[in-house]
Amino acid sequence: MINTPVIDFHAHCGSWGRFGVVDDPNLYIRLMDSAGIDKACINSIFFGDARWANNLVYDRFVTKFPDRFIGVAFVTPHYPEETIKELDRSFNKLNFKFLKLYPLYYRQPSDSGGFKPIFEWANQKEIPIMCHGKDDIDAPGTTLIKKYEKFSKDYPKIKWVLAHGACMPDINSVTVAKELPNIWLETCGSPTPLDGISFAVNHGLADQILFGSDMPLFDYRHQIAKVTAMDASEEDKKKILGLNAIKLLKLDI
Ligand SMILES: [Zn+2]
Repeated sequence: MINTPVIDFHAHCGSWGRFGVVDDPNLYIRLMDSAGIDKACINSIFFGDARWANNLVYDRFVTKFPDRFIGVAFVTPHYPEETIKELDRSFNKLNFKFLKLYPLYYRQPSDSGGFKPIFEWANQKEIPIMCHGKDDIDAPGTTLIKKYEKFSKDYPKIKWVLAHGACMPDINSVTVAKELPNIWLETCGSPTPLDGISFAVNHGLADQILFGSDMPLFDYRHQIAKVTAMDASEEDKKKILGLNAIKLLKLDI
């Protein structure tokens, strides 16, 4: 194993029986230990009640294992009157480190008007946001580069993390990360093509790739192997496994 801090940028909590998702914090810790993961950034996106979901993250995971879990906030435009209050609470009181959005559950694309107050808030506070780059609910003709060009212009202080953006050899994600400021690509996903993550590394993006697991939808152990066993230098692997996340989230590690 490589001797470096390892941060999982993309873990969920909240049980989801249909997909065998069991959010037992002790199971997470056991698998994190066996995969060599020091800390996991954990969010709860499966519930419409964001306050309840964020409390689940905080009470069940972060409070129980404060050295192992980093809280990630979730809000939804479904309840606009509650959204800003919940953002303030999540970051000021619960000390969460970034925001995860999931437009598919809202059934509106991330560039629809519902997300505007959230983006304005995050831009003002300089909060990083992780979200799928493109969704199948995007308006026809939407391209990743057009969407994020507008985001970067309208909200220049948000650091955007494209969930799954480095999992596949995807020239669209790579182009966005190369051409626009403040873009990072995260690694988790079920596909395991031969040149998955290394495609982005070979395009010079090692400083902008973040290891993520999607635990418990996927197992830490095979998601981390995609990084540790890939064709890349040890220096680049260290960045992807944790050094980039530490820098992006200004973690004290
Ligand atoms: Zn996920």
